[in-house]
Amino acid sequence: MTGAVPDPLPGWLTAARRVTALTGAGVSTDSGIPDFRGPQGVWTRDPEAEKLSTLSWYVADPGVRRRAWQERLHHPAWSATPNAGHAALVELQRQRRLRALLTQNIDGLHQRAGSDPALVLELHGTVHEVACLSCGERTPMRAALDRVGAGEPDPACERCGGILKSATISFGQALDAAVVDAAVAAATDCDAFLAVGTSLTVHPAAGLVDLAAAHGARVVVVNAEPTPYDTVADLVVREPIATALPRLLAAG
Ligand SMILES: [Zn+2]
Repeated sequence: MTGAVPDPLPGWLTAARRVTALTGAGVSTDSGIPDFRGPQGVWTRDPEAEKLSTLSWYVADPGVRRRAWQERLHHPAWSATPNAGHAALVELQRQRRLRALLTQNIDGLHQRAGSDPALVLELHGTVHEVACLSCGERTPMRAALDRVGAGEPDPACERCGGILKSATISFGQALDAAVVDAAVAAATDCDAFLAVGTSLTVHPAAGLVDLAAAHGARVVVVNAEPTPYDTVADLVVREPIATALPRLLAAG
């Protein structure tokens, strides 16, 4: 089925007691966070911007780091507020049906909406923390931005002098193995797997759909554009996320 949220909802969906959700940029665009990869994405319109998120450029070029810190000062995540899509996933948790919330988003809006941080797995890291590329120490982003604001254009690690970067996964940087392991466990141990607002073209996120389906989960895709997994899905919804998700995740 493709298109609108079915009414009534399929019985397998309302009966699902362990739902694993995977969210992508589409969940946060209604909160004013731009999609970096999509057809209107920041990187699509300004390939230079992609350098800021590429590890080799970031390490090699102090100019790239200074630009990256200026971008972080003005990141839309600082002023964004969660939307009805985030709230629908909090409601799923309140119904005790949420197995895990995997997200490709780095904005922390799921936690701010009220999702239990213990259930949120941030596959691409978080912009709310800074990580030292040498010693690995993690510190709050706010403190680093205060240093930038006070005149340090490229603040170094206060412990070891290493290069600091937002605790997000840049191109050329490995994902956190523990996070990926937990995501795989959640994909293989659910009744229903919801992919929301993601183009399902970036691994390992995309492969999680295969895993879930192979382990017997029903698959729901909610995305404005077609995805490579629409043919695998039991239900494909093209309605806007903020209006579709609250109805899809209503208690049965
Ligand atoms: Zn360090």
